Amino acid sequence: MMRILLLGGTSEARALAELLTADGADVTTSLAGRVAHPRLPVGEVRIGGFGGIDGLRAVLDGYDAVVDATHPFAKNISANAAAACRADGAPLLRLERPGWSARSRDTWHWVDTHEDAAATAARLGARPFLTVGRQEIDRFVPDLREHAVLARVVQAPDAQLPARWQLVTSRGPYELAGELTLMREHRADVLITKDSGGEHTWPKMAAAEQLGMPVVVVRRPPRAAGVPTVHDLTEAVAWVRALAAGAT
Ligand code: NAP
Repeated sequence: MMRILLLGGTSEARALAELLTADGADVTTSLAGRVAHPRLPVGEVRIGGFGGIDGLRAVLDGYDAVVDATHPFAKNISANAAAACRADGAPLLRLERPGWSARSRDTWHWVDTHEDAAATAARLGARPFLTVGRQEIDRFVPDLREHAVLARVVQAPDAQLPARWQLVTSRGPYELAGELTLMREHRADVLITKDSGGEHTWPKMAAAEQLGMPVVVVRRPPRAAGVPTVHDLTEAVAWVRALAAGAT
């Protein structure tokens, strides 16, 4: 039985845990522990950081392979996984949902950092809909302090937000009708997002297009080189199967 360490915190990691378990693998999903009530996958779950590259290397002995299915913006854990697996010769696969660049529209403004996103949005509108997540929210305060921001997060941030900001807590996936209602009610005039990619949060992009609203998109951070990468669950299952076949 293949023992898989699945670095998770995403919907595709949960889906992969289910598929691999059904396929006979022994899956342990690792979560960072960022949210108080995470959606749990099937199989074993461990929660909390490993303690950097060395901490991760220390647990690799217990597994036959690692699948990094973390969020495209979780660059530190992915870099650590690449370094730890390289050092120990452990098989590593990256499962990453496709980004949205192929679906880009003329109304989208691509930027490299959250600070650039804040500055661009401040120019483009007065009532931004901010959907970059709790961890990055502070980076938007300096440029958007006086804007009527609607910020959507899974869990409220610890820091106090500017008085003009409104916070809504919810967890995707979202649907077009709901996104249209939310944006209309707020009278949003610019959407700010990361290039999270995939389908679960795409409806906000469709809603922005329907409402003729500009979108500020933060580009994905660069990835560690040399890690085999797949973009869908079937390919990830096939990789584990091939490894198991080679291992027997
Ligand atoms: P990050 O910046 O890449 O990671 C920071 C540190 O958190 C890592 O060095 C590691 O600590 C720990 N960590 C992160 N993911 C972990 C995991 N799956 N299991 C165990 N430890 C983990 O990550 P992040 O951007 O804060 O994201 C944290 C988690 O939230 C990830 O699992 C990611 O999939 C999920 N998530 C992130 C976003 C996002 O926009 N960033 C969105 C949705 C979900 P040690 O060095 O101590 O091992």
